[in-house]
Amino acid sequence: MDLDALAFGAHADDVELACGGTLVALGALGYRTGVIVLTRGEMGTRGSAKIRAREFADSAGILGLAVHRMLDIPDGRVEVTWANKLKIIKALRAHRPKIVFAPYWVDRHPDHEQTSHLVRQAAYLSGLAKIEAGRPPFRPRKVIYYPSRFEFTPSFIVDISGAHEQKMKAVGAYKSQFYSQDRVEPESDGTLIGRPDFLESIETRDRQYGGIIGAKYGEPFLVREAIKLNDPVEFFGPEYLWARP
Ligand SMILES: [Zn+2]
Repeated sequence: MDLDALAFGAHADDVELACGGTLVALGALGYRTGVIVLTRGEMGTRGSAKIRAREFADSAGILGLAVHRMLDIPDGRVEVTWANKLKIIKALRAHRPKIVFAPYWVDRHPDHEQTSHLVRQAAYLSGLAKIEAGRPPFRPRKVIYYPSRFEFTPSFIVDISGAHEQKMKAVGAYKSQFYSQDRVEPESDGTLIGRPDFLESIETRDRQYGGIIGAKYGEPFLVREAIKLNDPVEFFGPEYLWARP
């Protein structure tokens, strides 16, 4: 199935946290969206691969994804290898997304950094006709990066004010990962995401980026290339005024 936007993550829940609102907003505009995670999350401190697969499916339903898939790259061992590039090339050629989201290439978790490199390289290679991966060559128009732990100066921020509630519901599908008042928590397992204030920090970040663009909630993105505009007058419409008339 051809997609408009496809987000890659190393682990289930990475994408929801960083660009779940944007996927919901794109869905509301009528675009077909998808998420592919490279690993099954079997190394996660909390939950198990089986539980995380179920939570991933629940979240995909809430986000309204047309496609959600888990690849079988070992968790904690995402490496830039030809075999892994081929897996991503196959996914790109199968779903033919116009744009692709990938993790920012600077991160604390090595899997996130390697996923970033893998997706960027595979997105280019996928367009080369002589690479045989079972389907015709295809190159997405743009690879767009989302942040995890480390921030960047965004190239643009998507207004997700109308999508934030749905995003937090999708994040909430990962019951094994996030703190819940409704169950007995394991004695402090040391994970950041297991802390009660983690979801608050997501809310705060979305608010902060929303505030920068004069919206209630926002998600920041980075592109490596300069953005081409044909008509800056049209592009910078009245919504760019800080003080609205
Ligand atoms: Zn992750």
